[in-house]
Amino acid sequence: MQANPAIATSPQEIINVLRKLQALDDETREIRNRRSERLEHLERLRKVIAHMQREIDDKRGKLTEAETWHKTKSAELEADKDRLAKSKSKLSGVTRSREYVAVNKELDIIRKNISTKEDEVAKLVVAIDEFRAAIAKEEDKFRDWRSEADQAERDNQASLDSMDGKIAEVDQRRKAISAQVERTVVSRYQKIADARGGRGVVEMQNETCTGCNMALQPRFAEMVLRASSLVQCPHCSRYLYGDPDRNLTA
Ligand SMILES: [Zn+2]
Repeated sequence: MQANPAIATSPQEIINVLRKLQALDDETREIRNRRSERLEHLERLRKVIAHMQREIDDKRGKLTEAETWHKTKSAELEADKDRLAKSKSKLSGVTRSREYVAVNKELDIIRKNISTKEDEVAKLVVAIDEFRAAIAKEEDKFRDWRSEADQAERDNQASLDSMDGKIAEVDQRRKAISAQVERTVVSRYQKIADARGGRGVVEMQNETCTGCNMALQPRFAEMVLRASSLVQCPHCSRYLYGDPDRNLTA
């Protein structure tokens, strides 16, 4: 046990090293939590933007459809107008009344067709205007969200970089501190911490384990305060340390 003087061997020293490890782990856990919060926020923004993009694409598809219809109906309308002009000129050359009636009938039909198509074209023009207005509105909204997401992405990158730097820096310190105790002590602490929400060492206050909030027997509390051995909570297995000022046991 005296082979390496840097290795802590007394229970008091070991518990102090574990407390330092715990403090570092608390630091990085907080950073890791903030990091995943940021990533989740970004993911939400991306989803909203993707949804908006689909809505805009959908409206653009409908606009194209309406424009195609408008083109078709306008061409048909022009053709009907040509037909009307031809029938009218035919009328001027008609001399017999029977023929006159027939051409007039033809003109009526063409006029009716033209009127129906003009209504259709007018409706399409209204629909096209509405689609264009809706698209323009959504594009405005989309631009706002996009710029917010871009900003978040940039902020995120900057803070992710700083978080990674912080984690790397803490890891360095953790390595140095871990080297101060036997490897098995660190791995036992790690095992408990992993199983107990990241906390492997906790304080005893008022003869109670602050990890699981269970009261400890006076004999047990005394052992913790004496620190002549490594004491684990009998309920949650966490390592315990205590300050006489915060416990009644003398
Ligand atoms: Zn406990």
